[in-house]
Amino acid sequence: MRKDDSFNKASLTAQKTMALLKDRKIRTIPQNYTIWYEYLSEENPKIIEVVNRLMLERGKFSDEVAKEIFNEFFSFEKEGKELREANRLVQQSMQAVLREIQSSSNGLANYGEQLDNFADTADGLSLPDLQSTVRNVIAETKSMAEQSHQLNDSLKNASDEISALKLRLEQVESETLTDPLTGIANRKKFDTELRLATGNSKKSNSKLCLIMSDIDHFKNFNDEHGHVFGDQVLKLVAQTLDGGVKNNAVAARYGGEEFGIILPGTSLEHAAKLADSLRTSVSEKKLVKRNTGADVGRITMSFGVAQFSDGESIDDLIARADTALYQAKNAGRDQVKIDLPRLVRSA
Ligand code: GH3
Ligand code: MG
Ligand code: MG
Repeated sequence: MRKDDSFNKASLTAQKTMALLKDRKIRTIPQNYTIWYEYLSEENPKIIEVVNRLMLERGKFSDEVAKEIFNEFFSFEKEGKELREANRLVQQSMQAVLREIQSSSNGLANYGEQLDNFADTADGLSLPDLQSTVRNVIAETKSMAEQSHQLNDSLKNASDEISALKLRLEQVESETLTDPLTGIANRKKFDTELRLATGNSKKSNSKLCLIMSDIDHFKNFNDEHGHVFGDQVLKLVAQTLDGGVKNNAVAARYGGEEFGIILPGTSLEHAAKLADSLRTSVSEKKLVKRNTGADVGRITMSFGVAQFSDGESIDDLIARADTALYQAKNAGRDQVKIDLPRLVRSA
């Protein structure tokens, strides 16, 4: 695309965005503008899919919907701010310590000079002069001890501050990678881990599988038992999946009531077995309402499994696991389907 074309396209998209906001009576605040601009520019199919899905589910583009979308797609700002602030504070602490070291090393040089002088001249001094020089050296030594005490304190303070900042940064990082409702990995973490896992699989020529899973008839479940109870069930499902996989695997909330599980070093056969054992674990959970104790039966999940084949894109791998998932749905739900690698399929 030529430069002019891209400028024209951007300005057309901007006009369309303003018209859409006005038309649908959506507040013209930067957050809403950003979301709809991205949507209308058609450059990010994921945001189109998520906006369409949420609009369908929630009926309108509320502030709550806007916040969810914004957090999912544009939330790097928060991290960026925190990092910049942490960086600034670390620099400030380090500069203060450096200043302290500088002044203390100046003091140390003076002190050394005084000791030198004392050693050179001590022999020829009269008693009163010697006494006075010794007093000076003692005073100087005390002041040095004082300074080094101060330096110790500032080093300790700086190191405490830096440790606290490091902890805070780790918290921020973990918050941005965790799904707040279920406490397991979120979509951002899933994307990062899948990129890493496919890279490793290519490098070491090791097997890698992906499971996509989705709760069956969850809309009906919400309609019948309410969204709040639905949320509790989502937590239970997430914990069951997360607890059912080994440490090197990643179970993440992919979106809504859909979960993705990345399985490095796992064959298709083992991944399918694992998916089936997760399916059984979920379906065996008896759901009881905490407040009334009422038994609300059980829920089931459908699973699709695909093995990564070198040369395919991450999107293709997800699409194949998704295809298998929808085959499981179409075949009656509460089951596992696998997507056979292309080579096997065309043979
Ligand atoms: P299927 O078996 O085909 O998957 O049917 P379904 O009803 O589960 O599928 P559909 O995609 O039509 O509906 C998904 C439902 O998941 C709709 C929505 O209310 C529910 N859902 C998505 N996210 C959440 C959430 O965070 N909390 C709750 N309680 N429900 C959610
Ligand atoms: Mg579902
Ligand atoms: Mg779904």
